[in-house]
Amino acid sequence: MLRIFPSTHQPHSPTHLSKEKLIHNGDPSGCIAIGPDTLLSVENSQISIGDRPAYFIGEQECNLILRTEIDPVSEKRYRGYDRIIQSLRHLAISINTTMKIEMGLDPLEVQASAFGRKLHISSNFHSDKILDALRMALSSKPDDNSKSHRAQFQDRKSWDIVIEARRKRHMNKLINMFPADFSRTHFNSVVNKCRNEITQAKTIRLDSSLDDLAIAKQCESAFETMFSAMKDIREKGTSERILIHHPLKDPSLIGKLPPGVTETRHAELNIEEYLADNVDVEYDKAIEELELTPGQHVIVAMAGRFVPCATCSEIEHSSIKDGFFSPKNNQFVLMRSSDRIGKAFANEVQHFPLSVLSKDPDISRQKALQIRDNFLFNPEKLRSYGAEVVNAYSLDTDSEDSD
Ligand SMILES: [Zn+2]
Repeated sequence: MLRIFPSTHQPHSPTHLSKEKLIHNGDPSGCIAIGPDTLLSVENSQISIGDRPAYFIGEQECNLILRTEIDPVSEKRYRGYDRIIQSLRHLAISINTTMKIEMGLDPLEVQASAFGRKLHISSNFHSDKILDALRMALSSKPDDNSKSHRAQFQDRKSWDIVIEARRKRHMNKLINMFPADFSRTHFNSVVNKCRNEITQAKTIRLDSSLDDLAIAKQCESAFETMFSAMKDIREKGTSERILIHHPLKDPSLIGKLPPGVTETRHAELNIEEYLADNVDVEYDKAIEELELTPGQHVIVAMAGRFVPCATCSEIEHSSIKDGFFSPKNNQFVLMRSSDRIGKAFANEVQHFPLSVLSKDPDISRQKALQIRDNFLFNPEKLRSYGAEVVNAYSLDTDSEDSD
């Protein structure tokens, strides 16, 4: 099923805690407003730093974003357009795993998308090592026993056991899909299934004038882009089809952050900001390749290891509602394979992709400040507040069976 629009979340009676007790609990670095002052930031005695809207929260503020904890959800089946999401996910997890295990670096998250005949990849940290990690991942040998790498039911809340099993399975799946001999047997079989499921199952939910064949063509194009990019990497070690996007560091914050505080803009937001900043060129390229007419939607499927975190979910939802990814713009629409929301991240500065929030710089700044202030002072206004979460991990499916 193709899901473009997140559903409206109803909080599930979260336990009420006193915000005032937790904010500013003797820890001066627990909450930092970044960017211009607002009425709320002044009222809360927050002296803003830096020029560009962003925020930092500590563990205590993070705990104010109350969540409804649930067990790992049942099996998720990747069908139709979700098959490209699945493949992008294998790619992202393979890069992530290689960085962590082979290179001793933690990107925290890698996300990927394919549109306009390019494969776009980014990470929260160490994005300069993505290509090296991809080369290494593709050169690793398939593990014939990977099907047996599954966490037992009783271990499904254990991060270490779940993630180790998943890493092995997904590395294997990437290599099987894009093998060293460039065989298209398995690849063609997956793409054919995908096309049939989109055009015959009629289960696609998409607010668009695109017909099923046009949707299937976009999915096939994304698959072909991935295949060409993986072939290039194997043959040449590099590919003109791959664009790496890097997290933002705000120069106006140099020397102003407490010691040890990191700053990032999350992987998916880096890709989305690139797209918003280069919309005209990218849209023209995409519709030419897909033989669309101006005004028809180009689908941007995005995937990684995790579901979008609390910040990314706010940004993406706001963008779909009335920002860059609004279907009313008749350009790009964002696709995720579920509506779930991951955790908020404490102890790192979260930068926003301003162009994704709105094409109008003033509106975009206002939206960013509102999201910032909600994280700092009004967590109950966040989409993630009260939303279900699997606290042990926020993987982009918590089911061991859904690869
Ligand atoms: Zn995020």
